[in-house]
Amino acid sequence: MTILSYIEDIKKDEPIELNQKEITELLNVKRQDVLRLMKVATDRRDNNDITYSKNIFIPLTEVCRNSCGYCIFKKESDDPSVILLKDKEEIIKELEVSQKYGCKEALITFGEQADEDELVLKVLNEKGFENIGDYLYDVCEEILDKTNLLPHSNCGVLPYNMLKKLKEVNVSMGMMLENSSPRLMETIAHKNSPGKNPKLRLETISNAGKLNIPYTTGILIGIGEKKYEISDSLIDIKDLQEKYGHIQEIIIQNFKSKVGTPMEFYNEPSLLDMIRTVSVAKLLFNDVSIQVPPNLNYHTNQIFLLCGADDWGGISPLTKDYVNPNDKWPRINELQKFSMELGFKLKERLAIYDKYINEEHLNQKLLSKTEVLKEKLI
Ligand code: SF4
Repeated sequence: MTILSYIEDIKKDEPIELNQKEITELLNVKRQDVLRLMKVATDRRDNNDITYSKNIFIPLTEVCRNSCGYCIFKKESDDPSVILLKDKEEIIKELEVSQKYGCKEALITFGEQADEDELVLKVLNEKGFENIGDYLYDVCEEILDKTNLLPHSNCGVLPYNMLKKLKEVNVSMGMMLENSSPRLMETIAHKNSPGKNPKLRLETISNAGKLNIPYTTGILIGIGEKKYEISDSLIDIKDLQEKYGHIQEIIIQNFKSKVGTPMEFYNEPSLLDMIRTVSVAKLLFNDVSIQVPPNLNYHTNQIFLLCGADDWGGISPLTKDYVNPNDKWPRINELQKFSMELGFKLKERLAIYDKYINEEHLNQKLLSKTEVLKEKLI
């Protein structure tokens, strides 16, 4: 019996337990079995909803202690065009505009531990902050006090105490695991990125679990990893999910080569590899949304819905994807068309998934704001 036949015999609601070898076998299925893999994955859906969150993207700083081989987000602090530290007043003004477009999520993403940079630290000190985490807390608090948006921060590796502090002003947080293989720390992708050490990243995701923070994570496909390393990464995330139950969505992101980066001439992952990975992720995570970024897969988006993907992620009607500025987000009515053509229903969600909107995961202030916004969802 092949592993695929074994999975086909498992009842829809029963969890699927697979080891590294079995997952790797699925990640390598040949053409005669690809459609079977997709079918068994998409059949595990429990509804026909495809969700998205209407957001605004706030790059708090473009400075980052890492230098990943595929990144065009990061800028040096002495670059005349850099966002060294975005001003709180400017952020609030942008958020006020975004409210008019119906945005409900303030996605605050920025370079990791940027306060290791002297210039960033100087500006932080001038504003009365000792580190970037404290500034982020202040920004999020202001967002909660002055706007109707819900903060979701994504700022890389963070220590336990900072996560604990930020939990008070964020409805959810996130950070891509990317891959849990330490081998990649020796490769062009991550050799200059101490923060991409998988041990540190898994520790952050684990600490978020201990703190009951609804969390987004995911893997990056095509940065030089082997198939068995993808399997290990999914198993590591699954272990944390089984322990803490805090992972609300898993992003399966495809590497995109970008001009001027060290990995400019690296091959992007094939559509087949993405199909197999998305399908396997759906099989392993019955209770977690599977997200494939629609701006990175404009012409192939619908295929992933046929593999069990059920979320488009954050879609911004007014800001670009600063991490992938060349890949425009589809318009919401395009996502609606993509979904409807396959018999699915596009549904707006908040930055926090419904099952986490409770006192166990949110303080009273966050809970009240979230409940009000939930009523406004279309
Ligand atoms: S990809 Fe993220 S962590 Fe890596 S250099 Fe760019 S901003 Fe920093």
